[in-house]
Amino acid sequence: MLPQSADLPLRTRPVRAIVIHTATAVFARKVAQDIGTDDPARLGDGAVARYERLELPFYGHVLVDGAGAPHWLAPVDRVAWHTAPLADFYATDRWRLWARPPGEGWTRHGRDPARVWDWWDARWPGVESPRLLATGRQPNDVSIGVDLLPTVDGEFTPCQMQAANRLVLDLCCDHDVPHLRGYVLGHEDVDPCGRGAVRRRGIIYGVPWDPGPRLDWTLLGLES
Ligand SMILES: [Zn+2]
Repeated sequence: MLPQSADLPLRTRPVRAIVIHTATAVFARKVAQDIGTDDPARLGDGAVARYERLELPFYGHVLVDGAGAPHWLAPVDRVAWHTAPLADFYATDRWRLWARPPGEGWTRHGRDPARVWDWWDARWPGVESPRLLATGRQPNDVSIGVDLLPTVDGEFTPCQMQAANRLVLDLCCDHDVPHLRGYVLGHEDVDPCGRGAVRRRGIIYGVPWDPGPRLDWTLLGLES
């Protein structure tokens, strides 16, 4: 456990979801610089050391490295800060408007796949807002964060995915969370504007990146 996790508040509400993250390739490269190697089997310890040394405040409960080793960062009975609380605009149509470049008319899914709402709508048909996912308004209060530490190239390894599969199944069993995609979410599902968009030349594109398209969700073995 990270020393700084001792200051996290105790959880007061039951766990309702698991949220999967990428620790990002940028972070993996910083760790590789710290320890002088990009060997996935060594990046996990280096990542933990970096979290400790810099007293980084944002992390999930557990980090799975490229060799498939879990590194526990925070006790699951504490609320870790791994996603933002959802802003009020997720309760309204405003978040869809946020994803629309100024001056353009609203386009429905299929005609304009570049926008945030379009990929989110395709992924969660009929769900109006991220708040209607299992995490609700305060995702941190009711979820366990699982960080996947990618390689320096941003890839998730096969043994890492095997380990994540087992870990997610165990967490779901332990906390009575359905082993379903609707309860095992990506950070990009929970906070699409924060983790599902990039801005290029003033236009916002819907590009989910946390955990992003390199995560093969089928390898988590969730039931549908
Ligand atoms: Zn994340």
